[in-house]
Amino acid sequence: MERYYFDHNATSPILPQVKNAVLEAMDEISNPSSVHWFGRRARARIDDARKKLLEIVNAKDMRAIFTSSGTEANNMALRGITKGNILVSAIEHASVIKLSTEDSYIAVDKNGIVDKNSLEDILAKNKDKKFIISVMLANNEVGVIQPIAQITEIAKKYGALVHSDAVQALGKINLDVLDLGVDMLTISGHKFGAPQGVGAILFKKNIELNPLMIGGGQEWGFRAGTENVAAIYGLSVALDNLASKSQISNIEKLRNYLEERVKLISPQAKIFASKVARLPNTSCITMPNVNSQTQLIEFDTKGFAVSSGSACSSGKVTISHVLNAMDVVKEDSSCAIRISLGRENTKQQIDEFISVWDNLYKRVGANI
Ligand code: PLP
Repeated sequence: MERYYFDHNATSPILPQVKNAVLEAMDEISNPSSVHWFGRRARARIDDARKKLLEIVNAKDMRAIFTSSGTEANNMALRGITKGNILVSAIEHASVIKLSTEDSYIAVDKNGIVDKNSLEDILAKNKDKKFIISVMLANNEVGVIQPIAQITEIAKKYGALVHSDAVQALGKINLDVLDLGVDMLTISGHKFGAPQGVGAILFKKNIELNPLMIGGGQEWGFRAGTENVAAIYGLSVALDNLASKSQISNIEKLRNYLEERVKLISPQAKIFASKVARLPNTSCITMPNVNSQTQLIEFDTKGFAVSSGSACSSGKVTISHVLNAMDVVKEDSSCAIRISLGRENTKQQIDEFISVWDNLYKRVGANI
């Protein structure tokens, strides 16, 4: 059976040219801290990757520290900061939301957009506190894109620092750190064709960040441990091969086509965040009356990898905190799945997916 991958927000396939680069670097003896030729060759790979990353996201004046993941980068940004209260939006990834120090989150509206009044309210009521605000650039579940530049503007009025988790943004939408005005930004390689196990935290040079790892002083002492040279080199090659504008536009057309077809079959299907700026590859959509776990199993059995907004652990289905924050009623959130496309997906795959959707909906959903 053919298997099709519609879960790029979970992880993206490693690009062939990246895989070759990683294999090449793995064959090189390389501790970048060594002063000999071998070490210098490895050091050059890391320095090049760092320079490229800072250039691509327009953050030339910032520092970039390579980490093992987006999760580590988020932790470094929020736990490494010397002092301050951590205030985050209600739809952040677990690696951010679990680090909140506040009683409440910055609210979002029905489309998942951060409520700027809610943010300003909290800041105005707590002028004595020093805040670090964390709002993601693009959400992993519904794809909503946040007005980060406006959020930064509000934050600056109250002297707060701003961190943005851009893990889902890089490679899918334009990412210009200077325009966003943030103080810190997280990226992760495996979301744009690099291998898993490499990410980075970018931050302004005047920000005091305590390291999470203490040891040999690598990465200017911000992140000790011998660098993962092969993965960092892979990330660098992935940056050279980010999806082009036309590839992104193709992905978006496929996503829109999928949504149109779904709506024709099941007009009551709801597509979240579809009226606002959204990642071009992401669709979070309900199949009326069909539980997301049932859908997941059916699609998986028929060869399609999608993911659900609700997670089943210890026999208990938990509803997505993102959909909850968007005030989505339980009947809808329990029937939501996420489809996230990539460059290798085709119209034929979408057509086959739609026929599985049609069949399942008619068998289970439409009869209730
Ligand atoms: N932030 C967001 C928005 C994500 O979607 C993810 C991963 O799904 C992460 C952070 C964590 O990144 P990593 O898998 O590199 O730890």
